[in-house]
Amino acid sequence: MSVERDKNDHFHDECGVFGVFDHPEAANLTYLGLYAQQHRGQESAGIVCTDGHSFHSHRGMGLVADIFHKSEIKELTGRHGIGHVRYSTSGDSGLRNCQPFSFEYAHGGISMCHNGNIVNAPELRKQLEQQGSIFQSTSDTEVLIHLVARSKAATMPERLSEAVRQLAGGFSLLVLVEKRLVGVRDRDGIRPLVLGKLDNSWVLASETCAFDLIGAKYVRDVEPGEMVVIEENSLTSYKPLGNDCKPHFCVFEYVYFARPDSTLEGVNVYKARYQIGVELAKESPAEADLVIPVPDSGVPPAMGFAEASGIPFQMGLIRNHYVGRTFIEPKQSIRNFGVKLKLNPNRELIRGKRVVLVDDSIVRGTTSRKIVEMVRAAGAAEIHMRISSPPTKHSCFYGVDTPDADELMANKMDLEEMRKAIGADSLAFVSFEGMYRAVGKPRESHCDACFSGVYPVAIEGPRSPQLSLLKTFNKKR
Ligand code: SF4
Repeated sequence: MSVERDKNDHFHDECGVFGVFDHPEAANLTYLGLYAQQHRGQESAGIVCTDGHSFHSHRGMGLVADIFHKSEIKELTGRHGIGHVRYSTSGDSGLRNCQPFSFEYAHGGISMCHNGNIVNAPELRKQLEQQGSIFQSTSDTEVLIHLVARSKAATMPERLSEAVRQLAGGFSLLVLVEKRLVGVRDRDGIRPLVLGKLDNSWVLASETCAFDLIGAKYVRDVEPGEMVVIEENSLTSYKPLGNDCKPHFCVFEYVYFARPDSTLEGVNVYKARYQIGVELAKESPAEADLVIPVPDSGVPPAMGFAEASGIPFQMGLIRNHYVGRTFIEPKQSIRNFGVKLKLNPNRELIRGKRVVLVDDSIVRGTTSRKIVEMVRAAGAAEIHMRISSPPTKHSCFYGVDTPDADELMANKMDLEEMRKAIGADSLAFVSFEGMYRAVGKPRESHCDACFSGVYPVAIEGPRSPQLSLLKTFNKKR
């Protein structure tokens, strides 16, 4: 994941999940699974463990390593666990919205967390409230728990299936209930969810990098619309949403969200990013002396660009890895202070050189402008900006925090206007064709709505929210 830049000038994945079933060290493993996925959310984290009867939970604001210490982990007893890391917009980042959520209902305890957005949650919530339900949080997860609790179906898989059928959006869910661990992926498989094995225990995670840390083996991706129910000695696959679910996996995971050492749909993220750089160099070459990445997610595409173009790769921007969330700003204003806190140009390398600068995306454009300005001030003779995704013109409704579309630079400006606005000598984005060639997957099985405006969860139709609802939802965020 890229350096933590201006929080409002980048897309943010909202969550990561991890679950383990039947392991004596369930709490420790869940902690490590979250630790490995910290890049998916840094504002809060939570773990719930159970032995099948009582549920033990700890949730807090901040980073995983700051929330969980030996004493907290010791309290999380039980052989089954789920955990969650969360990024959220400032308005609803309080402790009450930290996941997982745990409740008692007619059939015992239930605990749940999810990654993504249930786009019709506001509507479902309104209906539930009109029928007397009381909510403790503003989280979509709680809506789902109410739907499960109200179901009259006889078995747990049926109750959960009934609830999931009412949802629209992009989400991956983990549920601990009745001595079972359940993983569910939305019908389009927009958000990732992978299944693994650690000795005799099943594990579920948003990304395979969580498996690597705990020594688990990747088994397969949970399929779009699939519900895997793990219980003693068995894993059963259900298709509560029918057998015709077509994948529309988030292509932005390859560009930016996922860790480069993760494997998505069988594709190594680092390799995909590197290949995007190769495609960029073929599509939009530049006469230059150096290829410089904007760290971190700009590094693999910059390496690919360098290899394909024959232009030397250099770390011309050095990232400070130890930037905290708070800092003291000097009273006398320093130009581009926020960006300088995180990135510093290596003047010796840059001075007098024609530079290709590679970054993953341009959102509002404010950070790109500051970085170009900084590199120019370090003495670059020319700056050719290359972006390893198509222009981001639209908001995401599926679990990624994005500005409103009218705040996105590419939504308001054409390429030349953008180039001028960020102050580069040339600007180019990878094409859709180049991006999918690099990933090695067909476009039709992916979501690229933030680039194309084509939303896989249809704007109109029986299972989809209406456009007005999406707009309202976006405004709320
Ligand atoms: Fe991913 Fe963009 Fe689709 Fe959102 S709109 S799921 S960020 S590709």
